[in-house]
Amino acid sequence: MGLLTPTVALKNVTDITPGLLRELGCDAILLDVDNTLAPPTEKTPYEGAQKWIDEIKANGFHVVICSNNFRKRILPFSKSVGLDCVAMSLKPLPFGFVRAKNKLHEKPKSVVVVGDQIYTDVLGANLAGMKSILLQPRSFEPGITIKIRRAMEKNIRKKLYK
Ligand SMILES: [Mg+2]
Repeated sequence: MGLLTPTVALKNVTDITPGLLRELGCDAILLDVDNTLAPPTEKTPYEGAQKWIDEIKANGFHVVICSNNFRKRILPFSKSVGLDCVAMSLKPLPFGFVRAKNKLHEKPKSVVVVGDQIYTDVLGANLAGMKSILLQPRSFEPGITIKIRRAMEKNIRKKLYK
């Protein structure tokens, strides 16, 4: 339990249903990109992800992308999937979440953070007092810092995904 525990742990973004969001009492999603919606640096979303975004929006939920990646990567990607975005959001710090929340046209009752990393997405959500849905990473992500974070995640994930 504590700051590193997500509200819910699922496999893929497409496992998040309108029913689950209603159960959580959330009407808005702050959504990660790399390893959540698409493989890192790739322009095409994972299979089914675009359909999922469209269905979630059609069900009345607000969705804003909130990513730590650069604007150069996130802006064109967000545009291509039809979502507003905050890039360089510095998760787990709360600033990006606040900026993403402010991009919503209506004030949300409650937001849920969705992402694949415990030390950015889940920790950030908990620090900001928001709910979170943790997903399983699907693609290799290059870099030493991500390698360290994945190693730190290992035992926590083991308990979450029994
Ligand atoms: Mg990610």
